[in-house]
Amino acid sequence: MTEPQVETKQFQAETRKVLDIVINSLYTERDIFVRELVSNAADALEKFRHQNLIEKAEFDSHVPLEITIDGDDKKHILTITDTGIGMTREELETNLGTIAHSGSQDFFEQLAEAAKKDVNLIGQFGVGFYSVFMAAKNVRVQTRSWDGSEGWEWSSDGGGTYTIAPCPGLHRGTRIIIDLKDDAHTYASKFTLERIIQQYSTFVPFPVLVAGKKVNTVQAIWTRSKAEITDEEYTEFYKFIGNAGDEPLYRLHFSADAPLAINALVYVPKENFEVLGMGRMQPGVNLYCQKVLIDQHSENILPEWLRFLKGVVDSEDLPLNISRQSLQDNALVVKLRKVLTKRVIKFLNEEANRDPDTYRAFWKTFGIFLKEGVASDFEHRTELAKLLRFESSASEPGSMISLDEYVGRMREGQDKIYYINGSSRAAVEYGPYVELFKKRGVEIFYTLDPIDDFVLNHLGEYNGKKLVSADRADLSLPEPAVGADEAAAGTETTEPLAAAVLTSLCRWMKETLGDRIQEVKPSGRLVDSPAMIVNVDGYMTSSMERILKASGQSEVFGMGSKKDMEINGASPLIKKLASLRESDAEFAKDVVEQLYDNAMIQAGLLVDPMAMVRRNYRILDRAASERPASA
Ligand code: ADP
Ligand code: MG
Repeated sequence: MTEPQVETKQFQAETRKVLDIVINSLYTERDIFVRELVSNAADALEKFRHQNLIEKAEFDSHVPLEITIDGDDKKHILTITDTGIGMTREELETNLGTIAHSGSQDFFEQLAEAAKKDVNLIGQFGVGFYSVFMAAKNVRVQTRSWDGSEGWEWSSDGGGTYTIAPCPGLHRGTRIIIDLKDDAHTYASKFTLERIIQQYSTFVPFPVLVAGKKVNTVQAIWTRSKAEITDEEYTEFYKFIGNAGDEPLYRLHFSADAPLAINALVYVPKENFEVLGMGRMQPGVNLYCQKVLIDQHSENILPEWLRFLKGVVDSEDLPLNISRQSLQDNALVVKLRKVLTKRVIKFLNEEANRDPDTYRAFWKTFGIFLKEGVASDFEHRTELAKLLRFESSASEPGSMISLDEYVGRMREGQDKIYYINGSSRAAVEYGPYVELFKKRGVEIFYTLDPIDDFVLNHLGEYNGKKLVSADRADLSLPEPAVGADEAAAGTETTEPLAAAVLTSLCRWMKETLGDRIQEVKPSGRLVDSPAMIVNVDGYMTSSMERILKASGQSEVFGMGSKKDMEINGASPLIKKLASLRESDAEFAKDVVEQLYDNAMIQAGLLVDPMAMVRRNYRILDRAASERPASA
């Protein structure tokens, strides 16, 4: 007989990094490597079960679906065997030699952070297998694919390399043989293993045998009646299905018979892993048919913006042998998605009313997904809009209100919903755009997230009321309530410029500013500020322009040009400018330029800082020389 050929291979650089992080992470929660391996075994069994429904397997078809765990207390060896789908040689190399994620710097930082804080979190990163090296001196993975091709053995000590060699005589599935580290001998003990399985893996839908004895009760919790399930069971199941270490924020368990038979159990986690630098999240809800997993992390049963949900959807109406590819345009699946999405939105609405504090926490963490939904999901846009929350001029700082609350207290004669974007509440409140709103007592939303304007722009209207950004040129606010303006006017003493002088000043300012501005106009809305920039195109706001510019897309939208500058004829500075223009035109131009730059900055838009600073020094110089120290 010839020596079987052993090939030695390098781990992909990213994989080595992951190994470093995982091996050096906290040992206090080392148990979780068993959970990760058992969950991989369960995944492999689910994959086989589904594959077998699509195309009856010929090879090893008699082998029962189960997971076997054995510890050798004397040799300190732990073996985990499954009769799942197995791996071909190629799959072995891709799955256990490389990592699926892009491996950005961010990814590694977050992984390292998670590993330090709570090892439980690393399952979320799609690198669960490598956690075995927390406890292993050496690992051998023997595997044979369901297709009956040759078996292989992968072996590594978690250093820089692994080997692959042929491994004859295997059944379908995968066996993982772990040579335990000296301080990890406990993982060969039957009692330790039973405890871990009971703690983490009770919901594995296949028998798990420890030393020949079945230790889990196989059950599909989502098909049971709500009244029979305890909170602990629900939470345990969440941890199992979401491969999660935290507790869920919300859970929704429901069943329906019409228009489709559905059993669904979905959870909202506490954490948003997408903001933790992991890139776009995979969907977290699995599709089952009569308790058989059809589509793990299904992209078809919920819209993309609900990808933060975890859980299970089971529908008896789907054909059992449906293939993943055909799910996408299956009419039943489309209907299922509709029903589910509506139900989830309804649920969130109920929760928002029932317990606003928890909803606030939810909104803070997952509001970004709902905003994505409003912007991208035409079908559910209107219902989703009920769930939106923003600060407003009438809300306490840091607290948020809904569109319904806003509409409920709109002033008489008000037919629009107003909003204005800004980097912070203070920035908005000091800015020129809200001056008239304050004066007239009209509520205005503060959209403090740069993407909010896109979202509201897509929404267009709510409850029949147009959504309007306050930096629009053609803004018209409801008339003042009787007495309100007079009262406010009492505090103002300055007489505005004569109309003819103001018109002429506007024309001259427009000449000075040239193409940067479409028009300079007397303002009907400024109260204290001398000037502001407004957008002529109704669909564009300054904050949208800023984002499009930053992402290099402003050309695509052909914008950035159509702006007016409004000036306040009652502002002392504007009045002085009118006479300065006669006495010192050169210097007056500097003032106009500076007014323009200031207004642009208040709109959140960029100015040329170098030119501005130079001009600013000229103005300061003049101010310093003209003002006697005693004044
Ligand atoms: P994840 O499970 O999140 O994909 P892992 O690091 O746990 O990440 O596993 C990597 C991959 O290795 C899996 O996606 C799977 O393709 C493969 N794999 C791991 N264990 C098994 C097993 N017991 N049987 C078949 N394939 C497996
Ligand atoms: Mg895994």
